[in-house]
Amino acid sequence: MGIVLYSLKMSAQPIVSSKGKHVETMRKQAITPRNVYLSIVSILGIALVVWGLIRLPAYAPLLTFFLLLALAVAAQITSTSLVGGNVTVEVSTAVSLAVVALYGTSAATVVAAAAVTAVSVTSLQTSWPGWKGAVERISFNIGMSAIAIFLAGLVFEASSVALESSPIFGGIVPWLLAAIIHDQINLWLLIGLLHLQNKIPPLDIWRDHKWAVPINVLVMSVGGGILAVAVKEFNFLGIAIFFLPILLSAYSFRIYVSQTKRQMGQLEELVALRTQDLADANKELEQVNKDKDAFLAVLTHDMRTPLTSIKGYSSILRDRELGREQQVQIAKIILRSEETLLEIVNNILDIEKLQSGTPILLERSSFDLALLVTTVIESIESLALEKNIAILHQEVPQPVIITADEQKTQRILLNLISNAIKYTPEGGNVSIDTYMKGHFAVVDIKDTGYGIPEDELPHIFDRFRRVESHQQRAVGTGLGLAIVKSLVEAHDGEILVTSEVNVGSTFTLKLPL
Ligand code: ADP
Repeated sequence: MGIVLYSLKMSAQPIVSSKGKHVETMRKQAITPRNVYLSIVSILGIALVVWGLIRLPAYAPLLTFFLLLALAVAAQITSTSLVGGNVTVEVSTAVSLAVVALYGTSAATVVAAAAVTAVSVTSLQTSWPGWKGAVERISFNIGMSAIAIFLAGLVFEASSVALESSPIFGGIVPWLLAAIIHDQINLWLLIGLLHLQNKIPPLDIWRDHKWAVPINVLVMSVGGGILAVAVKEFNFLGIAIFFLPILLSAYSFRIYVSQTKRQMGQLEELVALRTQDLADANKELEQVNKDKDAFLAVLTHDMRTPLTSIKGYSSILRDRELGREQQVQIAKIILRSEETLLEIVNNILDIEKLQSGTPILLERSSFDLALLVTTVIESIESLALEKNIAILHQEVPQPVIITADEQKTQRILLNLISNAIKYTPEGGNVSIDTYMKGHFAVVDIKDTGYGIPEDELPHIFDRFRRVESHQQRAVGTGLGLAIVKSLVEAHDGEILVTSEVNVGSTFTLKLPL
């Protein structure tokens, strides 16, 4: 609902020379086609306005003229920047056209220039292009509107005279013609500048803006026509009756557009957020894929080793005549392999439960952690014996009582101590100390094993993570430490590790008392 002013957005990018210094002033002073064009339009337009101002005393009644001028300014200031374009919709040009009919073309150039100056000055507050830029912008805007309304006025006057004899055509055609001329002159003057300045093909600009042409023409001709008739018939009252509602609707339209813009902004934010979500989901999917691959590796490699061993030794038992001692030896190996298999299966089942997102339920009770450590060591001592590893464990003189889930604590200790044995070569040793420190019960599990490279340390508690060089040395799933971490966290405890390759590792378990 309004007339479009093709308001100018001056190119604000300064030109930078090879030495990096700004040479903006050189550009401004240089005689370029853009500058020549800008000067011609500005000078021509301003000359027309001066001519309009000289004829000021002839505009009668002068008070109504000034009232119309004030309304044009107000209308222009309520102009609405349409989303994403340098096109503004307002109704001030309808006033200019009415002024053409009421006071003549020269008066209309003054009204148009006043309105355009007002809006250019207001917009400078938000985008100050420097005083030279500001003068350029305002002069060109004035020039463009003055020339457009001047030519529209000429067409209006000529067609009014030509159609004087036909009351119907005479009352419609001049308004329509003038509005079309005004709109197109305004648009093409702007296209000229944008083309010279930014090298945009003229037809591209025209195509972008052509949707606005019918609205402009309609509002300018109908609005201008009604306003002129109203002022002729009712003078001041006419302005109030016919123009103020238009102005108010322009204002509400402006509010509507700014709200829409805000909503669009929110929508864009939402889209950005969703895109992020999608990226996160993709990352998660990648992780799931990696886990799947690692899981398959466990199934194919780590479970295969004990299975092959069971199969091989069972065949030996079946096919060969063996002495009692040899039979016991083989049975032990088979049992060991079965235990390994069971451990792998248990680990897989546990990690699924622990990391499924459902909180870990703890069955808390008070027990002696030192005693539990001793029990766990006893249960896996045979592993150490097989590898000739000494377990150094000092009995603690007094109990270390904690309130925790005993079974889960046992699992933590079992994983840590069996790892220490698993990743220590034959003849090494593992020392285990239990003590109290502050509000924590602490268990240090120190081995003289292969150690963990520094860059692997931060990831060692991730599931399926195994140090590459350890994979040939021991069977494992890479799940034991992930289980330990989940269980320790569920107890509000802490698990720390220090390690040096080929020297050994120390895992420190801290559980609150
Ligand atoms: P795994 O079933 O492979 O033992 P864990 O989650 O228990 O899985 O351990 C992950 C990896 O951390 C192991 O594969 C091993 O490379 C390394 N690791 C764990 N404990 C020790 C240790 N005491 N000494 C050296 N490396 C260790």
